[in-house]
Amino acid sequence: MPRLLLITASSPEIQQVRRSRVLNFQQITMPYLAARVPPDWHVTHVDEEAEKLDWNIEADLVGITFHTPSANHAYHLAAHFRSRGACVAMGGPHVTLLPEEAGRHADVIFIGEAEGLWEEFLQGFVAGAYHRVYRQTGAPSLERAPMARKALFHRNDHTSGVLFATRGCPNHCDFCTVAVMYRDGLRKRPIAEVAAECASFQGKVIIFWDDNITADRAYAKELFRAIAPCQKWWSSQAGIHAGRDDELLEAAASSGCKQLFLGLESISQSSMGEVHKGFNRVEEYARIIKRIHGHGIAVQAGMVFGFDHDTHEIFKDTLDFLEETGVQNATFNILTPYPGTPLFRRLEGEGRILTRDWPKYNSRTEVVYQPKQMSTAELIAGFRYANERFYSLPSMARRLARSPVQIWWTLPLNLAYGWRALAEAT
Ligand code: SF4
Repeated sequence: MPRLLLITASSPEIQQVRRSRVLNFQQITMPYLAARVPPDWHVTHVDEEAEKLDWNIEADLVGITFHTPSANHAYHLAAHFRSRGACVAMGGPHVTLLPEEAGRHADVIFIGEAEGLWEEFLQGFVAGAYHRVYRQTGAPSLERAPMARKALFHRNDHTSGVLFATRGCPNHCDFCTVAVMYRDGLRKRPIAEVAAECASFQGKVIIFWDDNITADRAYAKELFRAIAPCQKWWSSQAGIHAGRDDELLEAAASSGCKQLFLGLESISQSSMGEVHKGFNRVEEYARIIKRIHGHGIAVQAGMVFGFDHDTHEIFKDTLDFLEETGVQNATFNILTPYPGTPLFRRLEGEGRILTRDWPKYNSRTEVVYQPKQMSTAELIAGFRYANERFYSLPSMARRLARSPVQIWWTLPLNLAYGWRALAEAT
């Protein structure tokens, strides 16, 4: 029986940056891939966000997926398991963005989505004849995708209900790896299959791992109506266009949507234009947040600092805006030009990439490029100010008092983010 070890790699450095279990949701790539492994294989999954890897574990084949900040760590893992005689296959965002680099550390790499190619490779592995590179040239069908193997999940708490309905996004924001990973734009699973997987979870809370679940509004409305009978509470990422459509918001709320993560990114329209996200109309933000709140749905705002149009004022102005509009949660990030993105190419062309030390590409503790209108130290200081002010007790109290959803949904996240902000400040 072939022994397959799947690793969702997370370096010690990135675990230190993330710090809180509340903020780390169950990862799904490997449980979904495991569902495509023949039944006569012995499969183990280690999600380093959730548990320690036993480096002495015996495996014939090791599959590793990782993001850029964990790349060096993943290469270290690969060297270790190769030295023990295992075949190491790598895939995921960083491999797709930089296949030549990843290929130097693995026996096999997957460029792009693995479905279809993965099954072909496993057959070849058993037969002793497989390729070094599996490159996805089309868009694999999402129909009849097997449900993720829940037995390989490492979480049994409120975040253990995870799945996806759509993959990719029709937009092409310069800084976004999604647009590079899924070049075919938005693809959707059959709604009945998503509803069945949603209903298969025991717990009440569901996280849709979609990058933009409302990108196709007609599909989203149909999906929300289909999952309503499951009576779950759910959250996902959405574009701000969701907030322009009351029918969509009504369908979302009726199906148990408790919170939408909105990639607002910046309150500077010039910055949005700069990174090809001009469809985010800043003048609409307050109206959209109010409308979403009106449907009883909390808003988590994704904000980024460090665009070329950002000046010193951006930090205070952003915080004033977020507090005035009463968003329940916010995720602040330092702009990070991931390799392979248009943003990286532009900054590289301008000689502004400061380092290729991948652990520094964590969006929280380091600035990896030269900002235009401030120093790297000022950008980090502004980022810390934003976290500390937003997650201060007075700010939390003011914002959560106006929350459209019950406090048990918003308070744990606020406390987790607040704790992390405090830890970063010390
Ligand atoms: S809308 Fe969001 S997911 Fe889509 S390309 Fe832009 S940043 Fe990426």
